[in-house]
Amino acid sequence: MSALLFNPRAQFDFDQKPKTTKKPHSIINIGVVGFIFVLLMFSVLYQVLSLSPDHSHISLAQYNIKLNRPTAFNRANFPVINSLPTEPLANYSTKVPILMYHYTPANFEAQLQHLQSHGYTAISMGQLSNFLYTGGPLPTKPVVITFDDGFEDQLHSFELLKKYQMKATFYIILGGEDSNHCIGLTRTNLACGDSYLNWSQVKQLEDSGLIEIGAHTLNHADLPILNEQKQWQEITESKKRLEDMYNITVSTFAYPYGRYDQTTINLVKKAGFFTAVTTQSETVQTSLGRYTLPRVRDALLLP
Ligand SMILES: [Zn+2]
Repeated sequence: MSALLFNPRAQFDFDQKPKTTKKPHSIINIGVVGFIFVLLMFSVLYQVLSLSPDHSHISLAQYNIKLNRPTAFNRANFPVINSLPTEPLANYSTKVPILMYHYTPANFEAQLQHLQSHGYTAISMGQLSNFLYTGGPLPTKPVVITFDDGFEDQLHSFELLKKYQMKATFYIILGGEDSNHCIGLTRTNLACGDSYLNWSQVKQLEDSGLIEIGAHTLNHADLPILNEQKQWQEITESKKRLEDMYNITVSTFAYPYGRYDQTTINLVKKAGFFTAVTTQSETVQTSLGRYTLPRVRDALLLP
């Protein structure tokens, strides 16, 4: 299975008027104030104990479970992705550069400053999906920042994304037998492969609320050379295992080496992904092309 082995270097809120009585005003006022105070206390208690997702001590997963939603959703997507139709309502099209990175570029901070000074707003793939499926709103100059492969080096990028409060999507490889456990999130063979983000580091990304997690297969497989059953396993298992590990919904996929064929696209769609990204160079995104979204490599080239 050496052909499947990943080679990182090869690419890239009552108010009640008191009834008029003969009681002195001060007593009435005390009664009203007391009543309002009690109401306020109940209101505060309700907010704290119940369902607001803005209370960070309640995880999004718990929030969704309380609301009887089918599953928890990735915070970077929330609340957009859980209401999308299965097919786009029309063929929407607009310019949204999707930036693709593997390792943290030496000038990554300069690239982020360029995006900021040129009025770009970094959105999640979930927000782009909302546009592609419903024509939902986007900021004036949207940009999507993506990282492939889940190298440990990407923690440097994460620190800069946090500094500039920019969203990004990280496409994570799971790893497994077919890659001799040399690569990905579950890498155990340290004698081969590169350094990859581990379970708790990816959890850290997800917990930040800035990073959406996407799937990039189990073994960084060259999908179109595999039979359909094997492709299905690489595509669906990577999605399911990330979802189970982090209690999220993984709705976007990246083709390893940017390689796919029509069977691959059909399987990615059937697996329940809303979008998939390639390595083709273009900045216009369309609903019809939602499973072959193109990406560009350098933010400094964006006007
Ligand atoms: Zn890759």
